[in-house]
Amino acid sequence: MARAFNFSAGPSALPEEVLKEAAAEMLDYKGCGMSVMEMSHRSSTFQSILDDAEQTLRRLMGIPDNYRVMFLQGGATLQFACVPMNLMRGRHAGYLVAGNWSKKAWQEACKYGQADVLATSEPTGFDRTPHLGGMPDQSLDYVYLCQNETVYGTMTRELPDTGDVPIVADVSSMFLSSPLPVERYGLIYAGVQKNAGPAGNTVVICRDDLIGDGPALGDIVPTYMGYKLQASKDSLYNTPNAWGIYMCGKVFHWIEETGGLAAMEERNWEKANRLYGYIDGSSLFSPIARPDSRSIANVTFRCPTPELDAEFVAGAAERNIVGVKGHRILGGMRASCYNAVPAKAVDALLDYMEDFERAHA
Ligand code: PMP
Repeated sequence: MARAFNFSAGPSALPEEVLKEAAAEMLDYKGCGMSVMEMSHRSSTFQSILDDAEQTLRRLMGIPDNYRVMFLQGGATLQFACVPMNLMRGRHAGYLVAGNWSKKAWQEACKYGQADVLATSEPTGFDRTPHLGGMPDQSLDYVYLCQNETVYGTMTRELPDTGDVPIVADVSSMFLSSPLPVERYGLIYAGVQKNAGPAGNTVVICRDDLIGDGPALGDIVPTYMGYKLQASKDSLYNTPNAWGIYMCGKVFHWIEETGGLAAMEERNWEKANRLYGYIDGSSLFSPIARPDSRSIANVTFRCPTPELDAEFVAGAAERNIVGVKGHRILGGMRASCYNAVPAKAVDALLDYMEDFERAHA
């Protein structure tokens, strides 16, 4: 069996070591006589899996004690609503719109209060990250950004200066790709299905004072969506995605054992920059994201025509290179080089790109 060179944007490649370990524990987790999928989420065995996952993540990211960590369901998408419902105490927030994911979050927030677009790169086709023109209104409840726009392949490298206004960031597609200064954010959230585990969990990391005594919108907030309750129940208000948390814990350990987040960052830039370098020098492929806004994870590019794009994607599959088709709203190609994508997958993709370019010269 040959493992595919998997460049999928998410769900995406997981470390082979983690998959093997999970396979070995499938029928009997540490002598329990059952799989983690089969055990009560109230059992002491699962409690230690959950505690270990949280503690490992806290170590990896250096999460300060005054931040709560929650493993929630509903995808990153549910957070588009949870954020305003919990944090929009003055019913007024600011949004940086850098692509479709931040636009969706902004549209959702408009249902619950005044959500101003502080800057957007939509006029240039989301080929770059937008910048705040100056200090935002200090009465805003928060400034929101999607720090890595998965579809367009752009990333905000420098956090904006928002003064005392908390920054809320969707970091789904850059979560655990590199170290993050957690203390500079009010809230960070990420769907885990890119770098951290199988789909089905969203990690929410929120500063205590923002959680406050309950959701900004009060009792109409669905019970499940209240951060105060979720934080007080330590991700066990209801049945969590137990298998997913177990897998995330394993991935967190894998990251720690293979060098931590600084090592991930170095390896990820190395992979991405080899691709960017080739695309920049190519006379067939062109890059989609501007150099100063490029993502560490999602490398987007295209051929001169959609027909050639389709031919490229089809030919890739013949070489066991999968997941390189661009998102349906943008077209072209996208190679997502998350932590578990090995350098040899990038070698295979580059070889193929060179052959394809030669054949179409
Ligand atoms: N935000 C970002 C940056 C994403 O990449 C995605 C999905 N790929 C989402 C939000 C939505 O995530 P989900 O499908 O988990 O709701």
